[in-house]
Amino acid sequence: MITRYNSQEIEKKWQHKWAEDRLYEVTEDDSKPKWYALTMFPYTSGDLHIGHWYAEVPADVRARFKRMQGYNVFHPMGFDAFGLPAENAAISRGIHPFTWTMQNIDNMRRQLRSIGAIYDWSREVITCLPDYYKWTQWFFLKLYQNGLAYRGKAPVNWCPSCQTVLANEQVVEGGRCERCGAAVTRRDLEQWFFRITKYADELMQHNGIDWPERIKIMQRNWVGKSVGAEISFTLDYPGVEEKEIRVFTTRPDTIFGVTFMVLAPEHPLVAKLTSPDRKVEVEDYIVRSRQQTEIERLSTEKEKDGVFTGAYVINRLNEEKVPIWIADYVLLSYGTGVVMGVPAHDERDFTFAKRYDLPIRVVIAPPGWQGEELEEAYIEPGTMVNSGQFGELLSQQGIEAICDFLEEKGYGGRTTTYRLRDWLISRQRYWGAPIPMIYCPDCGAVPVPEEDLPVLLPEDAEFKPTGESPLKYNERFVNTTCPKCSTPAKRETDTMDTFMCSSWYFLRYANPHCDTDAIAPDKVRYWLPVDLYTGGAEHAVMHLFYARFFTKALRDMGLVDFDEPFTRLFNQGIIIAEKQKMSKSRGNVVTPDEYVSELGADAVRAYLMFIGPWEQGGEWNDSGISGISRWLNRVWNLVLEPYQMKVKTKDKFGNEKAHIELQRITHQTIRKVTNDLEKLRFNTMIAALMELTNYLAKAKETGQVTNSAWKGTVDTLLLLLAPTAPHLAEELWQRTGHDYSIHNQNWPQWDEALAKDEEITLVIQVNGKLRDRITVPASITEAEARQLAQENQRVKTYLEGKEIVNTIYVPSRLVNLVVR
Ligand SMILES: [Zn+2]
Ligand SMILES: [Zn+2]
Repeated sequence: MITRYNSQEIEKKWQHKWAEDRLYEVTEDDSKPKWYALTMFPYTSGDLHIGHWYAEVPADVRARFKRMQGYNVFHPMGFDAFGLPAENAAISRGIHPFTWTMQNIDNMRRQLRSIGAIYDWSREVITCLPDYYKWTQWFFLKLYQNGLAYRGKAPVNWCPSCQTVLANEQVVEGGRCERCGAAVTRRDLEQWFFRITKYADELMQHNGIDWPERIKIMQRNWVGKSVGAEISFTLDYPGVEEKEIRVFTTRPDTIFGVTFMVLAPEHPLVAKLTSPDRKVEVEDYIVRSRQQTEIERLSTEKEKDGVFTGAYVINRLNEEKVPIWIADYVLLSYGTGVVMGVPAHDERDFTFAKRYDLPIRVVIAPPGWQGEELEEAYIEPGTMVNSGQFGELLSQQGIEAICDFLEEKGYGGRTTTYRLRDWLISRQRYWGAPIPMIYCPDCGAVPVPEEDLPVLLPEDAEFKPTGESPLKYNERFVNTTCPKCSTPAKRETDTMDTFMCSSWYFLRYANPHCDTDAIAPDKVRYWLPVDLYTGGAEHAVMHLFYARFFTKALRDMGLVDFDEPFTRLFNQGIIIAEKQKMSKSRGNVVTPDEYVSELGADAVRAYLMFIGPWEQGGEWNDSGISGISRWLNRVWNLVLEPYQMKVKTKDKFGNEKAHIELQRITHQTIRKVTNDLEKLRFNTMIAALMELTNYLAKAKETGQVTNSAWKGTVDTLLLLLAPTAPHLAEELWQRTGHDYSIHNQNWPQWDEALAKDEEITLVIQVNGKLRDRITVPASITEAEARQLAQENQRVKTYLEGKEIVNTIYVPSRLVNLVVR
């Protein structure tokens, strides 16, 4: 009797041993090719759920595979530890955010260890600790010194419930707060921004990196580059010093179709231009629009409404007087905050003009247009009409001609705008890295000297949300002296957006304990860029976008020597349960800890990879994981129960045939598993390992191969299984008499000649007469055999003008086509 497979016992044993031996700790080693495998570090929410495991396990399997292939594999782990949830949870539970966060980290670290991954824990980073955020602050100073950080007043998304400013990305559908679901409003505040727009063009390019197409498209749309023209309209209004209003348009060819002008309600000219009789209506409208979020204002479902200001501009191309309106579908922050209304050729303007009975003038002729009124806007390019001196040019030529004309006359000209806005990083909350700036009454904004970093987050803050930073009321924190003139001054009290912390953590892993540099250049040069970055697609226009900006900014400062942080990106899918997304309210959340203690981490690992293609995810179900657990038990028994060759008399032929077949299946499995791992196709890899297991069970029963041939294949199975079920493989490796550790072994190689399918000769007949013989793989199916027979050149001449009425197939022998 062999001992039973006890996952609990062996998993604990090996995790302890690996940690003790520092098996997975890495050093920079120039003799080996490096491989930086990174998975997005978790937020310190408290519990590692199955979604985390789904992100982490396949990433670890892939990293282990690269390691066995001879790479120096770096697979670090850490914690994204600052941010609102910690603060909110702490407030609701009356615990300090630091305590709450560090307790969560302890628990999550324990859970992460239970995965049995190759994380190099000696390189852990925790973003809320001073030895990390000191350098987050240092990077702020670097950005500031390089003109990439600036302070400005700006309207911001404000969550009245969380009492905080939200980034555009944190405002979700219906203009609601991502965290609490409250309706978001607008507010003006003095804020810190990073000049991400400086890199707009470069961020649209993804040269030399292997990223999913949809992420690249989302990033390009996020930048939202538009090429067009800025056009000046004459403003002649008593008492207003401005003499023009400039408008951006991508369609200067429609300039003769302008019948109204629309300003954003918050445009500074609105107050000056509003005529006394329109004042009440205009002011009412402004108040209403301030209660809406940007997303609501831009929503296609929203009614396009507005009010007339009483003022006009002159279209310089045709000298026409054009009324000025305000409407909240125009945003101050996009373009110039003014839009020219061309209702015949823009859907939104068309709806607006219909609603307020404004003229709709066709200046681009739709196909077959006879001068009739339009039923809807015609937005395609076409031939210009009703366009004065420009006659009947095609749109593209018209755009060029009108831009030439504008530039010649000084009325404007070609320009490009972007949807992308600068990155607002100020947060009026406690649990973040303090922004290292000091305000002096004489010197203005003065950066904290580098030697004074970190600016420590005080422990004794009253962090309940008030709408202002809790640090503002902490006298000891606020009051300081000016680094320039030593007079009393005040500290900046806002903290940084946590996306700032995660924009550089992958650099810090290279040398997390260095207290003289944020990033150690030699180590960063060795490890970076990341070779494979895995994580959720929901980070497309946030973390993944900010990290690219950060890298490019550091490159321009000479701090790193590469353009892109993540050479390859892979997004995993989502694990659902009971056909739905897991959520506490539905009560369908799968807790990995329970399964780990019942069936073992190796079973959870293998099951997660078997559940479906990694990029698609799949549905968790208990019978599925039971099946996987049974398979691992079978492997255990198969390997440990002694093999006995059963052929007593030497049957050389049968012996040899069984031996060749075993070799072929083994080499085919090595090839399949290697290729699948290379391509991150984990589910089909597991299927191949199961097939090999089944084959071995059969071979054991027949007992036709030699003991050494049997042992060779068992060894191969264990090596191929090692990345997936690292504990089980290690235990069986030891019990079959090998040296520790299986994880330091080389990945098995296949021999193409041995992996080649067995071949047979198939006879092809037409009406029972031999017409050809062909060599085909032994595994050929009937359908494949038929097709090969019909497509055979020699056979074809006998089929000409005839009809195949029947096909007779004798497996491994012949195909007979019966024709008439
Ligand atoms: Zn909120
Ligand atoms: Zn000063």
